[in-house]
Amino acid sequence: MVSRVIPVDVFDLVIFGGTGDLARRKVLPGLYRRFLAGQMPEDSRIIGAARGELTDAEWRAQVAGAIAEFVPKEKQDKTAIAGFLERLTYVPIDARGTTGWERLKELMRENVVRAFYFSVAPGLFGDIAQRLSDHGIADAWSRIVVEKPFGRDLTSARALNEVLARHFTEAQIYRIDHYLGKETVQNLMAVRFANILFEPLWKAEYIDHVQITVAETVGVDGRGAYYDKSGAMRDMVQNHLMQLLCLIAMEPPWHFDPDAVRDEKLKVIRALKPVLAQDIVRGQYAAGGGEPGYAEHAENSASRTESYVALKVAISNWRWQGVPFYLRTGKRLRARASEIAVTFKQPPHAIFDDAKGWHENVLVIRLQPDEGMHLWVMIKEPGPGGMRLMQVPLDMSFADALAEVSEDVPDAYERLIMDVIRGNQTLFMRGDEVEAAWAWTDPIIEGWESRDDRPQLYDPGSSGPEDALMLMHRDGRRWREIR
Ligand code: NAD
Repeated sequence: MVSRVIPVDVFDLVIFGGTGDLARRKVLPGLYRRFLAGQMPEDSRIIGAARGELTDAEWRAQVAGAIAEFVPKEKQDKTAIAGFLERLTYVPIDARGTTGWERLKELMRENVVRAFYFSVAPGLFGDIAQRLSDHGIADAWSRIVVEKPFGRDLTSARALNEVLARHFTEAQIYRIDHYLGKETVQNLMAVRFANILFEPLWKAEYIDHVQITVAETVGVDGRGAYYDKSGAMRDMVQNHLMQLLCLIAMEPPWHFDPDAVRDEKLKVIRALKPVLAQDIVRGQYAAGGGEPGYAEHAENSASRTESYVALKVAISNWRWQGVPFYLRTGKRLRARASEIAVTFKQPPHAIFDDAKGWHENVLVIRLQPDEGMHLWVMIKEPGPGGMRLMQVPLDMSFADALAEVSEDVPDAYERLIMDVIRGNQTLFMRGDEVEAAWAWTDPIIEGWESRDDRPQLYDPGSSGPEDALMLMHRDGRRWREIR
């Protein structure tokens, strides 16, 4: 199987914050890979716009450095890199000032897709939108890409939506959640809605519970001061975990169309029940293994910010009545692993005596590191010795099954940027979705603040705080091992 690369229309992509960390690590290396794959038309251009006074040559040298550092060696093709760098132009610009804007306007071409990637602090989004509009740079072909965090609560998210709406229509605004750009996440929709197999079972009658885990081994060192104002709930749950939950729980959309999909996701968020205090566990990693703990990384010895959170969530609709969704995410855990596990109920009547080997069917959707899906089923243990049962995985590992394709499978950022150029918003969050997610998250955070809640310490390299284990044990269930 060979992956098909369908070139997009000619575009001018302006990256505000083109010298920043995100642009260097993700956006520019991703664009290079799309160029290498032949997806970026010859005439397309990338314009870096940031505060530093760089020449084109200096920015190109920086981008060459980023490609050398963040693109795998086997993809570093000298001719292609030179061709890619030729497409780059740099404009020194001040998001809050007057410099650079007229130059940027002169560079813009008529009848070419214009995309503006806001890879800057969210505090600058409004300033940039305003200036693009004041200088007549934004036109009907324009679209903007905004990065997370989209607000820190409902009020700030609303304010941000309002600022952007003054200058752009909702159809022009692409709010990135890079989890939605992952191959497996989209495959989840394909598996659910392009097969008859799972959907009839996809409900409370047959599903016992769902676990969503996003575990990291890294701590917050280096960005502790920023993280300390955010915490796992704002940084991960309100966006990434919530999006995964929506894709698992949503009703089939009438069509694979941006608004049809997003309408169904929104209904899930609106149906989330408020979470009770006893159904939430917050944690903070302690010092260990020669590394400082969270508080030291955050440079705040009195910090009450959570680097880990686990929640039991309920969706009040017909499909999910009584099915708990357990979410957990944290830093400095035992392994880097993101997965969704859908655990089915046991058959209604056990005809085999081998109770020891009795297990549920589990559909595991792995997002990282080894993307793929595994369906755990019961079979007879091979060989003589009677009818003993064992659980084995039906492996749908994409890395193996789609080996040739996956060579060129774009990473999340690449795919999402190409979707922006194509004008496809399916994998981007709509304004009302983001606001609904904050409306659900806010009372949880406010509850902690009003109680002056203190996160429980957990050992680095562990699976998280003890109380998180209890959250499941209490219901007669257990978390899957983080690996
Ligand atoms: P950064 O601090 O590394 O880069 C900021 C960029 O903005 C620089 O290019 C700087 O020159 C430019 N800039 C700052 N002030 C400016 C001004 N007044 N006018 C014009 N340009 C200005 O930040 P980053 O890590 O690249 O993050 C950028 C955005 O992406 C933030 O919103 C961040 O939350 C988000 N984000 C970053 C990451 C990441 O991995 N770095 C991941 C997800 C989201």
